[in-house]
Amino acid sequence: MAAALLTQVLALAPPRATPSARASPPRATLERGAARAEHVDVLIAGGGPAGLAAALSLASCGRAVTLVERREHAAAFEAQRAYLYLLDRRGQRFTDAHGLTEQIQARGVPNDGYLITRAWPDARGVVTSRPLLAQESTSSAIWIPRAVLLELLAQAAAAAGATLL
Ligand SMILES: Cc1cc2nc3c(=O)[nH]c(=O)nc-3n(C[C@H](O)[C@H](O)[C@H](O)COP(=O)(O)OP(=O)(O)OC[C@H]3O[C@@H](n4cnc5c(N)ncnc54)[C@H](O)[C@@H]3O)c2cc1C
Repeated sequence: MAAALLTQVLALAPPRATPSARASPPRATLERGAARAEHVDVLIAGGGPAGLAAALSLASCGRAVTLVERREHAAAFEAQRAYLYLLDRRGQRFTDAHGLTEQIQARGVPNDGYLITRAWPDARGVVTSRPLLAQESTSSAIWIPRAVLLELLAQAAAAAGATLL
């Protein structure tokens, strides 16, 4: 009797979610991560500029670094974050040290390399000016899209031996 009741209750219960129906990382990704991350000196959560720069620095010093990022890859499009970074000489000390400045120059725009032209439809005239941030301290600065900077940092970190998951 009790067994029959239990069978009926189970029959009424909603089906349990199968593993594939749950939101979880693909098994292949987990297995690859587990195999590659056997020995970790440093685990970094988040592959933004800070996390990737830390991964690059530490891996370059010989540390076993694993970085976990929730986005699919470093250069994935982010509608809310499609802006540019201005990399001035302070930031370039880091990119110089890792041989990245030339690539950033090639894929970015120099801060003193363009002019802003404003034109009015009622023929009041055209005004051309230098960018607001064009000062001596930023004359060698470079504008670079966030996605491009993250892509370059991720490539360099991986080349230095960091594991990016
Ligand atoms: C609207 C806006 C505009 C901005 N414009 C500029 C600008 O024009 N120029 C400029 O220099 N700076 C700008 N900034 C500031 C700049 O974006 C931040 O200072 C910089 O991104 C901080 O870098 P970060 O690596 O610390 O963090 P983030 O860039 O936020 O990176 C964090 C990373 O961690 C990941 N993450 C978060 N949680 C988890 C988790 N649980 N597991 C795994 N991964 C996770 C995220 O996906 C992300 O990739 C702007 C900021 C905002 C909000």
